[in-house]
Amino acid sequence: MMGSDSSSSPYDLAVVGAGHNGLVTAAYAARSGLRVVVLEARERVGGACVTEEPWPGFRVSTAAYVVSLFRPEIVRDLALTRHGYAVLRRDPSSFTPLPDGRSLLLGPDAARNHEEVARFSMQDAVRLPQYEAMLDRISRVLEPVLLETPPDPFSRRPTDLLRVARLGLRFLRLGSDGPRAVEILTGAARPFLERWFESDVLKATLATDAIIGAVASPSTPGTAYVLFHHVMGQVNGVRGVWGYVRGGMGNLSEALAAAARAAGAEIRTAARVERVLLRGGAARGVVLGDGTEIAARRVASCADARVTLLGLVGEAHLAPEVVQAVKGIDYSSASLKINLALSELPSFIARPGHSPGPQHRGTVHISPSLEYLESAFDDARRGIPSSEPILEITLPSAVDDTLAPAGQHVMQMFVQYAPSRLADGTWDDQKEAFADRCLEVLESYAPGVRRSVIAREVLSPLDLERRFGLTGGNIFQGAMTLSQLFFLRPFAGAARYRTPVPDLYLCGAATHPGGGVMGACGYNAAREILRDVRRGTSDDSWLLRHSALP
Ligand SMILES: Cc1cc2nc3c(=O)[nH]c(=O)nc-3n(C[C@H](O)[C@H](O)[C@H](O)COP(=O)(O)OP(=O)(O)OC[C@H]3O[C@@H](n4cnc5c(N)ncnc54)[C@H](O)[C@@H]3O)c2cc1C
Repeated sequence: MMGSDSSSSPYDLAVVGAGHNGLVTAAYAARSGLRVVVLEARERVGGACVTEEPWPGFRVSTAAYVVSLFRPEIVRDLALTRHGYAVLRRDPSSFTPLPDGRSLLLGPDAARNHEEVARFSMQDAVRLPQYEAMLDRISRVLEPVLLETPPDPFSRRPTDLLRVARLGLRFLRLGSDGPRAVEILTGAARPFLERWFESDVLKATLATDAIIGAVASPSTPGTAYVLFHHVMGQVNGVRGVWGYVRGGMGNLSEALAAAARAAGAEIRTAARVERVLLRGGAARGVVLGDGTEIAARRVASCADARVTLLGLVGEAHLAPEVVQAVKGIDYSSASLKINLALSELPSFIARPGHSPGPQHRGTVHISPSLEYLESAFDDARRGIPSSEPILEITLPSAVDDTLAPAGQHVMQMFVQYAPSRLADGTWDDQKEAFADRCLEVLESYAPGVRRSVIAREVLSPLDLERRFGLTGGNIFQGAMTLSQLFFLRPFAGAARYRTPVPDLYLCGAATHPGGGVMGACGYNAAREILRDVRRGTSDDSWLLRHSALP
């Protein structure tokens, strides 16, 4: 237990935003004895990891909808299961229906996967477990990096250089997997998958992980990493598996909030931070929308880097090169979410039946071939919503009876590509027509589904920005491309959770290791904040000395 580090401010740490990462930072800081206050603009905690009830009796995971990446260390440390967090395993985890009436089910059961894939290619059925084993070996070596503060080779500090060397040594442990790991970190998903597999349906199903949240096709360099990022997680100790949080994603955030409160943190909702309070150039608290000043020795923000630095601090208080670096962050986006209340589960031509079956338990992929993915992206490249959109559909009420009235269901459609920058018109004008198109596409695989819709809400990239404060609607608080990962996240020179403003930290998905409900950003940020508290410094001069800023 660390004593609080100032008696002059009522709080040692003010956290801007009760996104799940902000809550993780708050909980760890409070457990270490800091006096912590969390200030959330919305009426409820969770940010993009939230459950809401848009229609009486229907509880939807408004934004994020499946969990796997969330760090087991945090579940254990914060005793989250005692605070109500439970994950429902999805078996099977995916269902890809094809226009010709065939389909592919995949899941954690290797024998069943073999049977399913063998219907398309015996060679692929044999290779799938080898592919999964290869990813598993690489992720075992690289996964520890998720909970580390990235060393910055350009700082030329001996400690950083030593850590870069250690990282290199770790890489050497990959042996013959090393070249594949390099391709995963830098290459495109499509050629990678094409070297492993021959059946289109399998490649297309696996490739959807590579383009989630990205403005990229599977042929774009960098997408192999996005694919890998999505297989690094685990559910109840089983790797690569995605689950549902019982009660919706918000139950994880509520469990984190309960753990933070139990450790002494104060959480205020409907408390929008207007600006960071600066004294002598350092962060000394926040000012709320109603003018209330909240003094704090340090401030951590889980809003994205642009919102935090350009919005809450302001250009006038930042060096021009920092402003330029923040303005250079890629926030482009092409994701849209449709949440629906249904009177019954969809019945698919490829696997008929309205009663809950294996086809309803996992993610339903409407992405039948690699060419389908590519041509959906061709539209987006021109600023046009995909005429044949990629749909990732979840029906969590098929396995969780707490989400909808008996016999009725919730359906969540994560849709690509819906380019944030449209060639014509605005998303407010176009989103309902695009949602109609998405349902029309689904109707061709599951006739009658449109008739079963009781209610729907459509969240365009513009809505994601307005509702969750995500710049450009980017679901990861900044694109997950190589130039914005690791020591380059959120921008070169600022990857150590500290910002150019002394005593102001970033703790959200804007930081390493990036987007997804992982908790890792908040965990790492808490470690760095506590390190500074222990040392009695804010380590504030490093960025000014930094050589890598443009
Ligand atoms: C549509 C969508 C689908 C996704 N699907 C998945 C998925 O299935 N699985 C997965 O793992 N990840 C998914 N993600 C990504 C994941 O949800 C995010 O990366 C993650 O939730 C980010 O958490 P965070 O705590 O870092 O930030 P956020 O959740 O962005 O939280 C930031 C918080 O700060 C608050 N805030 C901002 N400005 C202020 C201010 N001025 N004052 C006070 N509060 C402020 C916001 O209201 C928000 O609560 C999805 C994201 C979206 C948008």
